Amino acid sequence: MLIDIVSVFPEYFSVLDLSLLGKAQSKGLVEVRAHNLRDWTHDVHHSVDDTPVGGGAGMVMKPAVWAECLDELLGLEPVDMPQVDPTAELWDEPVVGGDTTGGDTIDEGTAKGADGAAKPDDAVVSESVSEPVPLAEASESADSDTVLIFPNPSAPLFTQRDATQLSHAGHLVFGCGRYEGYDARVPRYYKARGVDVREYSIGDYVLNGGEVAVSVMLEAITRLLPGFMGNPDSIVEESYTGSNALLEHLQYTRPTTWRGISVPEVLTSGDHGKVDRYRRDQALARTADIRPDLIEKLDCTALSKADRKTLIALGWEVSGRNPRRL
Ligand code: SAH
Repeated sequence: MLIDIVSVFPEYFSVLDLSLLGKAQSKGLVEVRAHNLRDWTHDVHHSVDDTPVGGGAGMVMKPAVWAECLDELLGLEPVDMPQVDPTAELWDEPVVGGDTTGGDTIDEGTAKGADGAAKPDDAVVSESVSEPVPLAEASESADSDTVLIFPNPSAPLFTQRDATQLSHAGHLVFGCGRYEGYDARVPRYYKARGVDVREYSIGDYVLNGGEVAVSVMLEAITRLLPGFMGNPDSIVEESYTGSNALLEHLQYTRPTTWRGISVPEVLTSGDHGKVDRYRRDQALARTADIRPDLIEKLDCTALSKADRKTLIALGWEVSGRNPRRL
């Protein structure tokens, strides 16, 4: 798996040389390349941001510098895509068409600077790279094994399911946002070019930049690569894993009594059937308590009789398609 990460702080990713991911790199399972977005700028200040069109606080990352960088990493020629709807949600099909005027409030020719004065600004006024090309033609150039990912707090949550799916890709390209984020046309443009583009949030909070989010996603994805974990069984039975995902049971190691606290007796009984049932019941009970939303997603037909009995005892109704709390 080839992993390209674009950031204004590429040094941040030296942490990926540590631990299991470092080992996976030396084994040749993954190759991680961290790039500095500023290497694709042309001005003396290497600037990557500009004021938001429409006004407001903060700065937004400029589309042109992202595009020069991503075109190169994705092996795409720059072409204009006037058909792209800049407001389309990425997870909707298609990103093309729709009302692209966004009302009549923004006049591109007289964009206002931070001081409020009308000023002609090359970066705001239309910036053309080529003659527009038909959509089908432009889409053909994207590599189907590549996924372009932008961390973004206002996007769907990144889950274990996404990690599993992405662990099958051959090439991941991550674009780390900073400031108020990146120009929304960038992911939409690449989706219209036929690239598999995703935006993910890693949780309901705002970070300063995408670097931490990318590290989180990368760790979740790469540990699923065949050969990554010393013991492959350790990723089979884990929290959030599998079609009927639950939180994991509690774990203990030796000594069985520590500072006066003994582990649950059943775990030392040597009866594997009993231990399995105890752990399964505990997983169901903990999930019902901490993450009832996961219980609501379970497929009742895939639950064993014993699972159903446990859920009923926990106050769930299991005769329908999914469990329902009584
Ligand atoms: N103005 C944005 C926040 C920008 S934070 C908003 O209110 O939604 C700057 C960058 O940090 C984002 O572009 C993204 O790349 C990253 N980031 C911040 N919080 C994140 C989160 N919870 N998940 C993923 N990425 C996040």
